[in-house]
Amino acid sequence: MSSSILTSPIEYLKGVGPQRAELLQKELQIFTFRDLLEHFPFRHIDRTKVVPIASLHPQSDFVQVSGMIMSLEEQGDKRSRRLVATLNDGTGPLELTWFQGMAWAQKRIQRGARYLVFGKVTFFMGKPQIVHPELEEFVPEKTNGKPFLEPVYPSTEKLKARALNGRQIGKLVGQLFEMLSPQDLPENLPPSMMARHGFLPRYDAYRQIHFPARPDLFQKALDRLKFEEFFFTQLRLQLIKLQRHQGSKGPVFEKVGDLFHGFFRDLLPFELTGAQKRVLREIRQDTGMGHQMNRLLQGDVGSGKTIVALLSLLLAVDNGYQGCLMAPTEILSQQHFEGIAKMLEPLPVKVAILTGSTKSARRKEVLKGLEEGSIDIVIGTHALIEDHVQFKKLGLAVIDEQHRFGVAQRASLWKKAAIPPHVLVMTATPIPRTLAMTAYGDLDYSVMDELPPGRKPIKTVHRYESKRPQVMDFIKAEIAKGRQAYIIFPLIEESEKLAYEDLMKGYENVKAYFPEPAYWISMVHGRQKAEVKETNMQRFINGDTHIMVSTTVIEVGVNVPNASVMVIESTEKFGLSQLHQLRGRVGRGAEQSYCILMTGPKLGNEARERVQIMTSTNNGFDIAEKDLELRGPGDIEGTRQSGLLNFKLASIVQDKHLLELAKQEAFSIAEKDPDLSTSENRIIKEFLLSQKGKTAWSKIS
Ligand code: ADP
Ligand code: MG
Repeated sequence: MSSSILTSPIEYLKGVGPQRAELLQKELQIFTFRDLLEHFPFRHIDRTKVVPIASLHPQSDFVQVSGMIMSLEEQGDKRSRRLVATLNDGTGPLELTWFQGMAWAQKRIQRGARYLVFGKVTFFMGKPQIVHPELEEFVPEKTNGKPFLEPVYPSTEKLKARALNGRQIGKLVGQLFEMLSPQDLPENLPPSMMARHGFLPRYDAYRQIHFPARPDLFQKALDRLKFEEFFFTQLRLQLIKLQRHQGSKGPVFEKVGDLFHGFFRDLLPFELTGAQKRVLREIRQDTGMGHQMNRLLQGDVGSGKTIVALLSLLLAVDNGYQGCLMAPTEILSQQHFEGIAKMLEPLPVKVAILTGSTKSARRKEVLKGLEEGSIDIVIGTHALIEDHVQFKKLGLAVIDEQHRFGVAQRASLWKKAAIPPHVLVMTATPIPRTLAMTAYGDLDYSVMDELPPGRKPIKTVHRYESKRPQVMDFIKAEIAKGRQAYIIFPLIEESEKLAYEDLMKGYENVKAYFPEPAYWISMVHGRQKAEVKETNMQRFINGDTHIMVSTTVIEVGVNVPNASVMVIESTEKFGLSQLHQLRGRVGRGAEQSYCILMTGPKLGNEARERVQIMTSTNNGFDIAEKDLELRGPGDIEGTRQSGLLNFKLASIVQDKHLLELAKQEAFSIAEKDPDLSTSENRIIKEFLLSQKGKTAWSKIS
């Protein structure tokens, strides 16, 4: 096969050898010719551009200047001996320094002659200099030609020390292209698609990205290869989804039974929103077909995902199956359990809770009930996915606040039944659409973009520390109206002594404003035992305390509709989606609610931007998009491990249009020719097969 040359060990490339090969492997994970081919330059230098010395600045990096050598002398004593030349182009002086090869340089350089000098500018004592420049005699017409774009590659200190800096790596890539021919990089897109988008052939694209003949060709090469990255991921995901829809067996929820109907008719405490109804329809459709459902439900904070989960669970029970609801924390599991058990009380459904703190006698009962099938619905934490938890007939697993669970954890759930259960994954905070589509494209996807009626938008303001007394007075006024308030401090990790001290100081401070017995305060943080946490939380939920001082342990899910104020301390330490999630803890009742973002007097640019976004919108989907723009996909929770967003060239933020194109093409092929059997598409199939096992994707079932 023609791929053989690209799989050659890098050691065998001319100019590499065993020692450099080892370094390239260690430092840049370049093992083969292909790895080097895919080590893309991060910039190109136009070698025909000559800049005035006076315009150099500390960020100039590699430059080319031309001028006359004014002086040339050896400096320093034995150990720091160096050759120093001064070049002047009429706009100012530039120092050229050699520590090595002095004799050679001295021979070549003549005072009073003009040279073209190339190298990396550094500043020393405010003056520009180039150490070990490249230097050639100045020939005027040389600079009048077309641009000559030389690639510069990512490198590391260790590599630079071994004469493999960003430009020297380019020499190796040049060597590589000496050996490559178009057959080594066969086309993988059908001709019609190439024509439709005017793409460069694959070989040309690689070549132009490393050694562009012109800037516009570089751009075209980039587009082609970015498209390719998007296209093949999208196509793979589409094909997986299709396979699941057609192939994998799932429990059949064929009827809507008495439980669902009974609950809907008599017990539902409110009218469902349009979005809730739509999602339920989608779920009913999915689960009735005999294929496994794998659905991602995206809903903004407070959009009412819990009731959708509950009705879906009833659907499972109606059809003779068990269901489970998994939440990321004890508090949240407890709250789900209490809420759901209460709502289902009048119905013949057995609901249980299983968490890490379930006492062993009770645990035994629950495990037995699940195994025998006497428990219909179980709610809990990670404890649910442990091996000894066996179900008689698990038909549906709902995972709340999904991104706290890893892919592997999710996968272990569906090993619990002969036919894998349907899976409904509910996100805590919206994931940007583009990202969800890319990372979770193999899942079916529902959006709840509508809040229950009658909610007043939360008013969000920014307050500096100096306004603390007024903020505290405001909380007092709200408490006087019968409301409750949250005051949130940044998360305490085991090791974060400082954050813990901050919280304690904050707590004392709050207590000073709100003394007992006029006011009661709950405090919850990560270092407390589960029982203590729970008691404190419960007192706040019951309305026995006025204020909840907490770290972000309450971030997800808790529902206390009477709370109307959310104060976030040290706002600058929180990310956008976290802030939005926290804000979502208020505004759950009919009252006007407030979110107050406290910060110190000085704010960095990014923190300022986050505050600005928070005070200008309540829409989680918009915030998610901004978050993606500000932080990039790598930092969005839950996506890092998917490995799917690690594109070499493409960025789902900057290359949205290409992503959209790729998605359209992939969808159309998956729809018309899912087996990739037409002569047009065979080329795609061959490529996919040759890539097998190379890419991991977020196959969650
Ligand atoms: P989230 O989507 O953030 O999990 P929840 O399911 O906790 O939201 O719902 C938030 C609040 O809205 C709860 O108090 C819930 O009872 C209420 N709620 C849910 N759906 C509706 C609806 N259709 N009409 C009125 N209130 C609703
Ligand atoms: Mg929730």
